[in-house]
Amino acid sequence: MPDAAGSWLTIEVDRSALTRNITVFRRLVGPSTRLMAVVKADAYGHGLLIASDAFLAGGADLLGVHSMAEAARLRAGGVTAPILVLGPVNRAEAETAVQLEVEITVASLPACRAAADSGGPLQVHLKVETGVNRQGLVEAEISEAVDVLRASGAIEVVGLSSHFADIEDTTDHTFAKAQMARFAGYRDSLAANGLDGLALHMSCSASALLWDRSHRDIARVGISAYGVWPSKETLVSVRQRGREEVALEPAVTWRVAVSQVRLVPAGETVGYGRSWKAMTDSRVAVLPVGFSDGWPRALSGGGHVLIRGRRAPLIGRVCMNLCMADVTHIPEAEAGDPAVLLGSQGEEIITPEMLADLLGTIPYEVLTLPGPTWTRVPL
Ligand SMILES: *Cc1c(COP(=O)(O)O)cnc(C)c1O
Repeated sequence: MPDAAGSWLTIEVDRSALTRNITVFRRLVGPSTRLMAVVKADAYGHGLLIASDAFLAGGADLLGVHSMAEAARLRAGGVTAPILVLGPVNRAEAETAVQLEVEITVASLPACRAAADSGGPLQVHLKVETGVNRQGLVEAEISEAVDVLRASGAIEVVGLSSHFADIEDTTDHTFAKAQMARFAGYRDSLAANGLDGLALHMSCSASALLWDRSHRDIARVGISAYGVWPSKETLVSVRQRGREEVALEPAVTWRVAVSQVRLVPAGETVGYGRSWKAMTDSRVAVLPVGFSDGWPRALSGGGHVLIRGRRAPLIGRVCMNLCMADVTHIPEAEAGDPAVLLGSQGEEIITPEMLADLLGTIPYEVLTLPGPTWTRVPL
């Protein structure tokens, strides 16, 4: 049975949890730091506008998105707060940025030219290479980049940014510290090129949790604003360093309505490849969610869902739009019951970390699994 909104697949988003999480960072980074809530990837799967409103209500000063398309969705949704595009922007998108008054990141010489060709006025942040080797101008490109932007006459360089390569994956932050030193070198060479007083920013949740002021002028916070620790290593490092172990609250519940409960006689098999066999007469719940909805096939035979507050093991293979769970031990389970794939129900919980461990990935990927077939419902 679909819910009132007609959807079988629902992501419930607890807006007040998002607001409380960003409030934690508002306090942690102090009043002189601008706080950016990173809302790329549909706000880590939470719904771009729902999450952005919650973060702005909790004290975020600006929003970070990956693409110009996401920035345009925010503006179309009535968001007037400052927005910075963190990903690449081409010439046409730079023109849109001018119209929508969105700040952009330039991380290569072609990107500088695209920004300059937009005609402006446009505020840009230069992104520099300090160790990820993914996006960022290298030292030798700096003076040409400044010349290109200056020649246009209408581009204002307002920020200088970089990104950590090895911070969540380790409790040894030697490389991160070396990156901060390199970053300071870029600040000096920009000053030598006549660009002073830029907003410096090189941070993510982990660095904001680990160090004071490493974020410099703008703290960019993603995963932990959604109530999830960046990694076990970050939590361990925070404890080792005697830093405050802040309370973070996950904000999403992924829910699917059971479409039917079937009786499967002992000896019968379930699903493709006949990978599960009923050892006793069994009751099997059918859930209309599958790998095309972002519920990975790799969970076949390994994952659980929560039904009537109990864990029900997934059985057989996860299909494109369906999967099956054993509810033999939950006799009251019936069609229409809400099954929780992520989140809590009764006393039971499935966390992003649990799913990440099962899938051999990180919570970041887990949160962004559900695509457009899900309806996000703010609570
Ligand atoms: C995604 C992203 C962040 C946020 O990182 P979290 O680890 O999720 O806090 C910060 N900065 C940039 C440039 C990003 O792309």
